[in-house]
Amino acid sequence: KTVVIDGKVISEEIRTKISDEVRKMKNDIGKVPGLAVVLVGQQKDSQTYVRNKILACEETGIKSVLAELPEDCTEGEIMSVLAKFNEDTSVHGVLVQLPLPQHLDEAKILNMVRLEKDVDGFHPLNMGNLAMRGREPLFVSCTPKGCVELLIRSGVEIAGKNAVVIGRSNIVGLPMSLLLQRYDATVSTVHAFSKDPEQITREADIVVAAAGIPNLVRGSWLKPGAVVIDVGTCPVEDSSSEHGYRLVGDVCYEEALGVASAITPVPGGVGPMTIAMLLCNTLDAAKRIFL
Ligand code: NAD
Repeated sequence: KTVVIDGKVISEEIRTKISDEVRKMKNDIGKVPGLAVVLVGQQKDSQTYVRNKILACEETGIKSVLAELPEDCTEGEIMSVLAKFNEDTSVHGVLVQLPLPQHLDEAKILNMVRLEKDVDGFHPLNMGNLAMRGREPLFVSCTPKGCVELLIRSGVEIAGKNAVVIGRSNIVGLPMSLLLQRYDATVSTVHAFSKDPEQITREADIVVAAAGIPNLVRGSWLKPGAVVIDVGTCPVEDSSSEHGYRLVGDVCYEEALGVASAITPVPGGVGPMTIAMLLCNTLDAAKRIFL
């Protein structure tokens, strides 16, 4: 029987612990962690993600500030907003909601976030330190960190296991592969140019799917007993659901049931963990300053 890994319940536990720590910090030193979010443009998805992040801050007692910039803003304008947050001592975490509009140089902008406040872990130095043995990144990106947290809290051993990560984006797939290596898994990466993704996936004890292609991973791709972490969240039309669409993962859930030993559902798996890890990183950033 396949265990369903409940990201909602696990993330609630984490958030409760964060709330307690924030309350204690406030009682002890009269200060709370602060998160600044930079949102460029009017993209609906991004607005929703940002709203959820800010709500989550409110619920845990973390202070948040939002800087909204127009779609056609210049790099200079973003830089000056970032410079202000970088200097602000009540702000401990700074994140730029991605993707940015085409005309902006993403790498250059992410490079501007102060390393000690890079709670998304997208600064090239944090990413580089994640990749290098013997070095410690100040922050690990929230989604990969959330995936590993789900594995650990579900009692899944990572060391020595074969893991496959499907996808190699800077925000999910690549840091996920690097992080699993840190936990001593044998990691394969599958991406759009991979020749035989099915066969590579069938070797894996742990499958992390982050390609953004609904139902890409079929039940036949899975080794019996594999643990499946499904990062994919794709809206597909569904006239019977409230908003006219529903979210579908990269893994064919019905087929995986009965083959996998454990699986995360979509929604309610990785998604809530990403936000919990952002709160966690913001608290850590403040603790480094205060404690
Ligand atoms: P992306 O489009 O930047 O990257 C997709 C990756 O998948 C690329 O590396 C590409 O090479 C690979 N890919 C494409 N087609 C493939 C195929 N046929 N086989 C194997 N690999 C293939 O996407 P992303 O930003 O990394 O996000 C991936 C998915 O995860 C999306 O559905 C996104 O919505 C979701 N996501 C979820 C969370 C969360 O918190 N749950 C967070 C971030 C992203």
